[in-house]
Amino acid sequence: MAILVPGGAGYIGSHTVDRLIENNFDVVVVDNLATGHRSSVNKKARFYNGDIREKEFLNDVFEKESIDGVIHFAANSIVPESMEKPMKYFDNNVYGMINLLEVMNQHNVKNIVFSSTAAVYGEPEQIPIKEIDAKEPTNPYGESKLMMEKMMHWADVAHDIKFTALRYFNVGGAKMDGSIGEDHHPETHLIPIILQVAQGVRSKLQIFGNDYPTKDGTNVRDYVHVLDLADAHILAMQRLLNGGDSQVFNLGSSTGFSNRQILETARTVTGKEIPAEDAPRRAGDPSTLVADSTKARDVLGWTPKHDNVKDIIASAWKWEQTHPNGYEN
Ligand code: UDP
Repeated sequence: MAILVPGGAGYIGSHTVDRLIENNFDVVVVDNLATGHRSSVNKKARFYNGDIREKEFLNDVFEKESIDGVIHFAANSIVPESMEKPMKYFDNNVYGMINLLEVMNQHNVKNIVFSSTAAVYGEPEQIPIKEIDAKEPTNPYGESKLMMEKMMHWADVAHDIKFTALRYFNVGGAKMDGSIGEDHHPETHLIPIILQVAQGVRSKLQIFGNDYPTKDGTNVRDYVHVLDLADAHILAMQRLLNGGDSQVFNLGSSTGFSNRQILETARTVTGKEIPAEDAPRRAGDPSTLVADSTKARDVLGWTPKHDNVKDIIASAWKWEQTHPNGYEN
């Protein structure tokens, strides 16, 4: 019995692969290494270097391996990039999902856990956001993930492929021993950028927007530790393998932190000054994103263990200090 993890060399994917192996799953990783890192993949996973948009390649993997379920991370995920290159997102994310669902159907694989996002909601109607709330993405990244969710729904109707879409809010942190962590090129996410400034790899933080309708004018986000997120994928897969139906879950901590609060917490955790300046708003950023994650707690039995931003930043800081230039490959 094997779990296939497309995108298993990425940030969240590599932590999930690691947790799957710690939980004695047999793991197969497919990644084209466009943004992922070969050395982030636990050595006990079988690794195939390739692109899920290439049907022959994907078909070969399903022929060689005996796949029972798929945890799908292979997608582009940078909001500002998606505003500039929307077609890249529809090609890689949406077309990739079409291929994956077709090949799953051909090989009679009936379970998929999907890495979705709070970006499907766009500017929320109410805080905290519930799964049933309106979905009006404000950027092509969120739009592509919403399309992928809808495709899985119709694959369930037509082919009985059961899915769990996990809508993440903001993810941070690293494995506690600092051996794997977050390494994007270019880096666009708030916590790693702040820590790069703390480390001296970057000169200052720019805070995008100071006139949002929030407590201090900066965007408010809801942060989850990457290890808690990884465990939610495993719970979701176990539920599907036990005959669970298709469902969508928010994954967040239900507490919002402003960009300025994250900066202040990072200053406390690192003991560094971390120079920062106000900058114009970034296109496509909703003002506040905070999750209602009650459903994940009730239905999946998900209980985050590292439920505060200090832990998240401290583990990311450990990774940053031991890997100032990220992975070697
Ligand atoms: N942000 C910022 N400066 C940066 C990077 C990000 O002010 O150099 C802000 C960004 O505008 C947003 C928040 O930090 O309000 C979180 O952004 P990130 O890209 O980390 O995640 P997103 O919320 O887009 O998924």
